[in-house]
Parts: sequence; C-alpha cells; structure tokens
Amino acid sequence: MSVSLHTLNLLSLLWIALALLIFPLLLKVRAPYGRHLRRGWGPMISNRLGWFVMEVPSFLVILFYYIKSVNIHSLYLHIVFWLWLFHYFHRSFIFPFMTRTKGKKIPVVIVLQGVLFNLVNAFLNGSYMSMYFDGQEMTAIMFVRLAIGLVLFALGMYINIRSDYMLISLRHTATNGYKIPRGWLFEYVSCPNYFGEMLEWLGFAILAWNLPALSFFVWTVANLLPRALSNHRWYYEHFPDYPKDRKAVIPFIL
Ligand code: NDP
Repeated sequence: MSVSLHTLNLLSLLWIALALLIFPLLLKVRAPYGRHLRRGWGPMISNRLGWFVMEVPSFLVILFYYIKSVNIHSLYLHIVFWLWLFHYFHRSFIFPFMTRTKGKKIPVVIVLQGVLFNLVNAFLNGSYMSMYFDGQEMTAIMFVRLAIGLVLFALGMYINIRSDYMLISLRHTATNGYKIPRGWLFEYVSCPNYFGEMLEWLGFAILAWNLPALSFFVWTVANLLPRALSNHRWYYEHFPDYPKDRKAVIPFIL
C-alpha cells in the first residue's frame, strides 16, 4: 500500500495522541496477563502461543517492507531495518519459548490487541523506511544520530534481554510461582527489562529520526511505565521483605 508522507506523518501524530490518551487509563487498569492475569477477560489461549502470535506480525510486516525495498543503497537504512528485525526475531521466535510459563494462559483479547498494536507500528515504520527514509548521503548530524542511537539501542537491548532471562530463570518449573529478583540492575529497580526496552526504542527513534519511530517510543513508554508501577506495587503486596529502596523502573528516579 502506498501512503503519502503527509498521511504517514499525520497518522503517526494521531497514534501518539492515542498513546497519550491511553496512558492515564493504563495507570488504573492493569493489562490482564502474566502476574496480573485475572478472570473476566473472556477466552484464553496458551501464554507462549499468545506471545508468538502477538509479536510475529511485527517481524513479518517489516520483513515484507525490507524485501520490497529492493533498491536500498544506503547502509544506514539497512541498519534501521536490521535493528527492528533483530529485536522482533528474538521477541517472536526465541523469547516466548524460553519462558517458563507452560500451562499458563493469556486472554485472546490481549493477544488480538497486541496483534493490532504491532501491525500499526510495523505498518507506520515499514512504510516510512521503505518509501521516505533518506540515508543516502551521510551528513555529520546523521552520523551523530546514528552513533547515539546505536549505543542506546544496543545498551537497551542488552539490559532488556539480560533482565528478562534473569527473571525467567528465577522459576525452575512453570508452577514455581514468583520470587524476589536480586542482583545486577534488580538492586536498583523492579523492572530493568522495561527500562532496557524503553532505552532501546529511544535509541531507535533517535537514529531513525522520524515520526513513526517516535510514535513507537511513546507507545512503549505508555505501555511499560504503568506496567512497571503495577509490578512494583505487586511485589510490595506479595513480599513483606521486598527491598524498600528499590525504584520501579528508572534507577534513582521512579
Ligand atoms: P515480565 O517482567 O512481567 O515477565 C517476563 C518473564 O519473566 C515472564 O515469563 C514472567 O512470567 C517471568 N517473571 C517475571 N517476574 C518474575 C518473578 N519475580 N519470578 C519468576 N518469574 C518472573 O515482562 P512482560 O511479560 O510484561 O514482558 C515481556 C517482554 O516484552 C519484556 O521484555 C517487555 O519489555 C516486552 N514488552 C514490550 C512492550 C512494548 O510496548 N514495546 C509491551 C509489553 C512487553 P509470567 O508471564 O508467568 O509472569
């Protein structure tokens, strides 16, 4: 589908506006999956299958746009595509199958909402990358953006993946429940995995430098900041000995 630059930017601004509207709602209503799963959200499917179905559209749609952009002569644009594909390859094909959630469920409505969310983000970003990304001639300012963005993206991805796998390894079997995470960045915040994810997409927005990429960063914060606050409260409610000086998601700040 061919979309004009004006339309794409307008859609991205509307998408950002929606994230800002939904943010206060997410501070009140906890998305019912993982530790916040509860009854009343309709039919459910396997948690692992749910994560795979939710995340794989983002990988496939961007892959489609990448293959469609046969005439890419810019290394910069290749990098932008690869970063997205790398993140979503891990999130779709590796992460769900590494979780120790066998037998756990996720509501179909959450999966469908995740699919829609990922389709919109991949459509906005893929369309922009394949049609309007101008990375042909590297200027000094582009080089600076690329360098800063790459550092933040790589650091964010490392923090996100390392923390996710530290959490996953707390549980020895799927029925093993939850434990207090300890060590490394968990000494500072309850959800370093979310902190890493936010850093990652901030880096991406800086290096891609366009409205669709910015909209994805804003959505990531709108999703994960409220979730981190809920998880943080949840730990205090469930573990009387939970460390008192730990923040929720941003070390020393929040
Ligand atoms: P969580 O931190 O809630 O869980 C990650 C994994 O670790 C799950 O398998 C969870 O099991 C397990 N786990 C978590 N805490 C504990 C504990 N204390 N003891 C034992 N096991 C634990 O992350 P999410 O599931 O919310 O998110 C997964 C990934 O997806 C993250 O990397 C996140 O950044 C990303 N994400 C990105 C979004 C975006 O908008 N870009 C939106 C949502 C997520 P269980 O499932 O049983 O709780």
